[in-house]
Amino acid sequence: MNIAQVKLKVICMPLKYPFHTHLGTVTEREGIIIEVMDADGISGYGEGVAFSTPWYTEETVATSLHIMSDVLIPLLKNSPIKHPEDAAILFQLIRRNHMAKAGLEMAIWDLYSKRNLTSLSKMIGGTRSEIASGVVVAADSLTSSLRQIEKYLEEGYQRFKIKINPGQDYTVLKEIRRYYPELPIMADANSSYTLNDIDRLKALDDFNLMMIEQPLASDDIIEHSLLQKKIKTPICLDESIVSFHDAKNAIELGSCKIINIKAGRVGGLYEAKKIHDFCLDKGIEVWCGGMIEFGISRAHNIALASLPGFTIPGDISASNRFWEEDIIIPEVAVKNGFVSVPDTPGIGFGINEKKLKEATRTEKIFTF
Ligand SMILES: [Mg+2]
Repeated sequence: MNIAQVKLKVICMPLKYPFHTHLGTVTEREGIIIEVMDADGISGYGEGVAFSTPWYTEETVATSLHIMSDVLIPLLKNSPIKHPEDAAILFQLIRRNHMAKAGLEMAIWDLYSKRNLTSLSKMIGGTRSEIASGVVVAADSLTSSLRQIEKYLEEGYQRFKIKINPGQDYTVLKEIRRYYPELPIMADANSSYTLNDIDRLKALDDFNLMMIEQPLASDDIIEHSLLQKKIKTPICLDESIVSFHDAKNAIELGSCKIINIKAGRVGGLYEAKKIHDFCLDKGIEVWCGGMIEFGISRAHNIALASLPGFTIPGDISASNRFWEEDIIIPEVAVKNGFVSVPDTPGIGFGINEKKLKEATRTEKIFTF
């Protein structure tokens, strides 16, 4: 592929509204923008989606920057690749650090698709021209949750994800159901329960939820299989599935009926597609989760969610869900509840250079 240069930019932007979970509140988002340029000056873009602190996974912006700069980029420099999958396989020499690997690998996918004048969606086997859009409601009170739902419903979102925890579950969902009996809602617990809470979780069967996401420990597969036997609501796994191997085990054990695939969490598009293909074969539904991301990662998510197995609306919301102004042109827009999948080469979005420059805190350049 003749890679000539890699640029890493650490950027930071304030969120339009604070994002609340029981693990913490996000008010501004740091991220890493990766630009991989070839000898002809064509650039592909990726995004490192780790957060500033390790509340979601163990990776952070600082650890991702270190792994990319000191480990992955030198590996790439010493081992020329012909295809993005070669990068994914090369990075398997390094344990974990999936978000760092994914950011680079996805920039390479964008570059490769651009070089082949093909959309990233087509390049990875996407079949949809538009994808259904869902949104996360992450407010700090019931009143503001209801207000957010009303607003997002007007904007056409097709699925609503409510963050829950043992201190805020049954009563919140009951109240939401009182106002919206038919609303497609799911709950995300971000690992805030244990098996001692089985009765509490069973009670949520009352609300006809599309699913409950990651109720038990963030690295558990076994206990979820015990829980799924006791509750009617389908379990969806997020944090627990960091590889194809995990997905295979979880499905074989009956730990979940649905998987949330985030390319960042599993190390990139190669692994994400492997998980997707396996789930499609086994009849397990998947959807694409969000990471409060900037436009580049959002664009990659659109391509991923265009694969045939992504049958449930994901967290792919419009750029204006989080940002006053996004770093891509055009911004991602939701029309009548759908986001259209670009058919232009690569991720199909340009870079808003002015906004990207404003948001950039530090920049590192690696020449090959
Ligand atoms: Mg989740």
